[in-house]
Amino acid sequence: MKRMKIGVVEDNEDNRLLLHAFLDELYKVVDFEDGPAALDGLPAASPDLILLDISLPGMDGVEVLEQIRLDGRLRHLPVIALTAHAMSGDRERLLAAGFDEYISKPIVDEGVLLEAIARLLDRKRGTPPVAVPARTCVEPAKKAEAGCRVAVAS
Ligand SMILES: [Mg+2]
Repeated sequence: MKRMKIGVVEDNEDNRLLLHAFLDELYKVVDFEDGPAALDGLPAASPDLILLDISLPGMDGVEVLEQIRLDGRLRHLPVIALTAHAMSGDRERLLAAGFDEYISKPIVDEGVLLEAIARLLDRKRGTPPVAVPARTCVEPAKKAEAGCRVAVAS
């Protein structure tokens, strides 16, 4: 079976190396060092899932996710937040922002990461990307929903 591809957006080289150590045997992994590089390269890389660091220089992971959800080529992809800010309420905040899952760093149990990836890839396999319609949502509260295009307020 063709190996699935994971896009990693992570500015810290040590963390990228660690992710490669966890993932290389199972998946193809393509790296991006920051948000703009990821948004530029992800459509052509065409990964099956994205691991997105929250703390990135310039444009943080939540902003990168917003752009991913507005891009018809990317918005169907499962995205897992990676964050060192393991504060209470983080998980809820990030899931509300539209992330599919949340993994806190440092990753002490690679099984948790691998399980989350496998589960989201299984879900994705059953859902053709074309099935996700573009929607327009006016309320800011709906902004975080996947596939929701935010109407520009006049
Ligand atoms: Mg970082």
